[in-house]
Amino acid sequence: MDNSLLIGSHVSMSSPNYVLGSVEEALSYEANALMLYTGAPQNTKRISLEKMKIDEAQALLKENGIPFENVIVHAPYIINLANSIKPEVSEIAREFLEIEAHRTKAIGATYLVLHPGSYTTATLEEGLNQIISNLNQIQIPKEVCICLETMAGKGSEIGRTFEEIAYILEHVKHPDNYGVCLDTCHIHDAGYDVFHFDEVLEMFDHVIGLEKLHVVHLNDSKNEKGSNKDRHANVGEGIIGFETLCSIAYHPKLTHIVKILETPYINGKSPYKEEIQMLRKKKYKKII
Ligand code: FE
Ligand code: FE
Ligand code: ZN
Repeated sequence: MDNSLLIGSHVSMSSPNYVLGSVEEALSYEANALMLYTGAPQNTKRISLEKMKIDEAQALLKENGIPFENVIVHAPYIINLANSIKPEVSEIAREFLEIEAHRTKAIGATYLVLHPGSYTTATLEEGLNQIISNLNQIQIPKEVCICLETMAGKGSEIGRTFEEIAYILEHVKHPDNYGVCLDTCHIHDAGYDVFHFDEVLEMFDHVIGLEKLHVVHLNDSKNEKGSNKDRHANVGEGIIGFETLCSIAYHPKLTHIVKILETPYINGKSPYKEEIQMLRKKKYKKII
């Protein structure tokens, strides 16, 4: 397998094989990276670590020469650390995130992707400060890095600009425990010009620092730049297009960074094996 491109997709994690099943799914796509949720993304119900077949999953990764850093964990998206209107909501989110960070370590993963949250009917500034206050009350294992995801800016979503992410990173007590996940669909929908990606990266470097970037979500977008919609399209099937996504995947400054596909299923079938192949061959082929 050509391992020069670190690429995978989000995969399921479910009974009976859990993390082992996730790794098997990724291997079936010929991926050398993967992203999983430690339970359903919409809720906080979690099964015990002993049942998750973590040792077997780690052995299988090793057998296939895939480093554990290529396993990314995504926190459930219902977590809203920014809710200052209902602080009890953000309190539950805070407690859950702490548990999730420990589960990330137990799985052997390093990067835990997190949506910063939504400020609801408060202000952006109140939302940002609520996030910071919550993060500063959490104890995170030193091996774990929480990666704040760049967001499309749907509704009152925080993380629409690099400045918002930078503000959080500048105010957390333990900055070494934090990084960033850049989602190509989200930054495009938020108004960044992904067709001039060098300039976007320069901006990122200037505002946040490129050394903080640890994960890329490689998605096409169904909508125009600046639409604030957040609707992912399959690779080459959206406004961003194959050529641009491919050049981001192979960007020389991002070689060491894992790229994760979160594109939609096609007719109930996973598109990931084909999309990974297209990107490896640098050649678009319509999935039918
Ligand atoms: Fe996400
Ligand atoms: Fe994403
Ligand atoms: Zn999205």
